[in-house]
Amino acid sequence: MLWRALDIHRAASSRAPAPDNSMRIENDAKLDFKDVLIRPKRSTLNSRNEVEVERVFRFLHTGGEWKGFPLIAANMDVTGTMAMARALAKRGALTALHKHYPEGELAAFFASPDGAHAFYSLGTTDADLGKLEAVRKKAKPRLLCVDVANGYAEKFLDTVKRVRDSNPDAVVMAGNVVTGDMTEALLLAGADIVKIGIGPGSVCTTRRVTGVGYPQLSAIIECADAAHGLKGQVCADGGCTVPGDVAKAYGAGADFVMLGGMLAGHDECDGEIRYEMRDGVKTPVGMQFYGMSSETAMKRYAGGVAHYRASEGKSVETPYRGPVDNTMAEIMGGVRSMMTYIGAAHLKEVPKRTTFVRVTAQTNDVFGS
Ligand code: 5GP
Repeated sequence: MLWRALDIHRAASSRAPAPDNSMRIENDAKLDFKDVLIRPKRSTLNSRNEVEVERVFRFLHTGGEWKGFPLIAANMDVTGTMAMARALAKRGALTALHKHYPEGELAAFFASPDGAHAFYSLGTTDADLGKLEAVRKKAKPRLLCVDVANGYAEKFLDTVKRVRDSNPDAVVMAGNVVTGDMTEALLLAGADIVKIGIGPGSVCTTRRVTGVGYPQLSAIIECADAAHGLKGQVCADGGCTVPGDVAKAYGAGADFVMLGGMLAGHDECDGEIRYEMRDGVKTPVGMQFYGMSSETAMKRYAGGVAHYRASEGKSVETPYRGPVDNTMAEIMGGVRSMMTYIGAAHLKEVPKRTTFVRVTAQTNDVFGS
């Protein structure tokens, strides 16, 4: 009997452990904006005029308040301009300025009333931190955006801590990440708002080049849940192509939505315009728009693509679309209309009133066009 028992024990211990695929593959469906629609709900609201798209936010670390339409122009060369900040401010929205403005211009801007409607953007290099310190000697940006493509690097958390410590009164937005664990880590390190999105951008090629990414709607849902548990906020960054996507981002729990491509091609942008002769008149028809990790951007700022890295962005031409205010009216109109469909009188109620209907079998075409 004893031998038999030992045999059984030996046989069990010599068996190779079963492969644990659950460690390597997440089988839950992860969704993008195109995979869902928002289900309409009974409502007492009759008109778009009855809804309020402005929100008041109290921030985790600063305790300060901000009221406005929580939409932010992306800190890309083309869209993150001072002219964009002035135009979007009229609609109560914000702009993250791109980080390539000279120090003096930034100091003058942030010392003016326009500065209240813009984020000062920086990366994690000593030069970035030094430039912020130099600007702060002349002006105090109240909104800071610490921005890197990969928010998972340990150095990034350290930079967020440093920025928080040296700017106790500023609202700090930091990203980009796509998971709840890193959202929490960034909030605990000092961020008030965590920026969500790896790979969804209209001129981003990260998913193609590296195979890394996360479907954006699921990323927003999961990160918003993590952030709200700690009383922080999230900004959904990238992947919105139509006003309905902005509405879905709010429905998924985004407190702020950042837009690049949807705000490109306007008068307030800093992009090369292409003209055509139409009926004898020189007419603007298109404007260049490019990713900040594209070859175009790297040539402009770093003299080309460094030998150890690949470009993760592309350059496209967007149609010329005139003043951005028309586009803002369309976006805000779409969000207002969504709110009447689901019976949300205030933007804050939107996630609670949102039920998504899945309209695709599984996420496909994750690379975009
Ligand atoms: P969009 O609204 O155009 O879909 O996305 C805008 C976002 O794309 C930006 O805020 C930024 O997070 C991201 N982005 C901008 N340029 C690049 C790039 O060259 N590569 C990658 N991977 N993302 C980019």
